[in-house]
Amino acid sequence: MAYEVLARKYRSRDFGEIVGQGAIATTLKNAIEMGRIHHGYLFTGTRGVGKTSMARILAKALNCHKSDGPTASPCSECESCSRIAEGSDLDVVEIDAASNTGVDNIRELRSNAAFRPARSRFKVYIIDEVHMLSSGAFNALLKTLEEPPEHVKFILATTETHKVPATIQSRCQRFDFRSISPADIGEQLQSILDREEITADPIVVRRVSRAANGSMRDALSLLDQLLAYGASNLTAETIEDVLPGGHDETLSSLVDAIAQHDAATALECVDRSLVSGYTPERFCESFIEYARTLMILAICGGESELIDLAGSQREQLVAQASSFDAASYVYMIGLLEETRRRVKASSAPRPLIDAVAVRLALAESFIDVSDAIEKLDPGETATQTKQATPSKKKVAKPETKSPIQEANVSSPRRSKPVTSTVVETPVAERPVIDEEVAELPPTKPRKVDRRVGSVSAEAKRKMSQRPLVRRVLEQSGGTLIDVHKVDATVEE
Ligand SMILES: [Zn+2]
Repeated sequence: MAYEVLARKYRSRDFGEIVGQGAIATTLKNAIEMGRIHHGYLFTGTRGVGKTSMARILAKALNCHKSDGPTASPCSECESCSRIAEGSDLDVVEIDAASNTGVDNIRELRSNAAFRPARSRFKVYIIDEVHMLSSGAFNALLKTLEEPPEHVKFILATTETHKVPATIQSRCQRFDFRSISPADIGEQLQSILDREEITADPIVVRRVSRAANGSMRDALSLLDQLLAYGASNLTAETIEDVLPGGHDETLSSLVDAIAQHDAATALECVDRSLVSGYTPERFCESFIEYARTLMILAICGGESELIDLAGSQREQLVAQASSFDAASYVYMIGLLEETRRRVKASSAPRPLIDAVAVRLALAESFIDVSDAIEKLDPGETATQTKQATPSKKKVAKPETKSPIQEANVSSPRRSKPVTSTVVETPVAERPVIDEEVAELPPTKPRKVDRRVGSVSAEAKRKMSQRPLVRRVLEQSGGTLIDVHKVDATVEE
């Protein structure tokens, strides 16, 4: 017998089998039971989330021969049901709009629709990728959709709802199919593996569930690929061969490298990710998603249900999440999103990605000019600030050190309490400042403010006139200062 791919073999047969779209299945079932069947449905959602399966099940429910009328539980055995499941029923016409875009195709559909169904109750038209129709075709469809013959039902499916004219949408009942959660996909995969009598490590199921990005079909294709590899027992090694370089593992190493200020390793991780097939934009997106996961774990704690993670993976991420504070994650995500947009517009995006990795890894070495100014003489700036409250803690500085040298003291971000030193400014709170220091909003909420008082624009302007500051600004191009570089030349 010819091999049947899993996605076809295990296509859902009734409303109860559809994974992850319970609300839609219930609504449709109720509509059938109450006899409130609409003449047009629009199913939207990304690929592989069950739109076509749901359309076929609805068609089966409408036409099942075992029942006197439309039924919420089609038999899946009668001729109508089995033909619909194969996509070869006379009265259930599946049209791929991607290859039948023209007005003539729809005119033909309209003239055929006028005839009564051959042997079933309804003539059902399932139009897949309906957004691909030409505007002429949409207009032709609109007329039929408005007042179809009694015996005609339309089920339109699309991945790009915004391309479907509002006039069409308003004549249909719209159902938005959700991406399927990794947990739901995992459960379905496990049940299929059981039925196929294949054993698999839990990590295999988890990796495939997550790699599928919410698409059941993608998950099953991946599983097919793993099974074609020839193993009846799927292990972590099998998946490593077929799906090399779990991207999450690479991102995990990248975050570790950044936490350890190891720019070289960070660059290697970026390279590994891009070589494995990730586009720079996709890399940014997945890094943002990863940083978000860590941020939520850092803020909401390891038990948070805002993210879906398996036990062991959760433990590992919770441990990693403590590498940075919340502010650092906010900074990281902001920087990555900015990079993502620049990457999208750039013809040579690789250097941007490399630069951002280095920047994150060496963030500790960079210091904001206004911070440097403040450190030159915090007493002066503090007294100039009216808002400085008495409770603000001013930390005494060792007299023997130059301010810049002090800034050079490297301090691990996480180990020290925030108020222990002037030098420690969380990475996230150092904005990239433009040439015009004075333009910085003076009231920007920054942790530095709590310690030495915020600096007014006037104070900054005044400070930036001082010879030492001028030299620092010139050296740094007026943006970020590399404190190591400054330290070598300025200290006199
Ligand atoms: Zn049937």
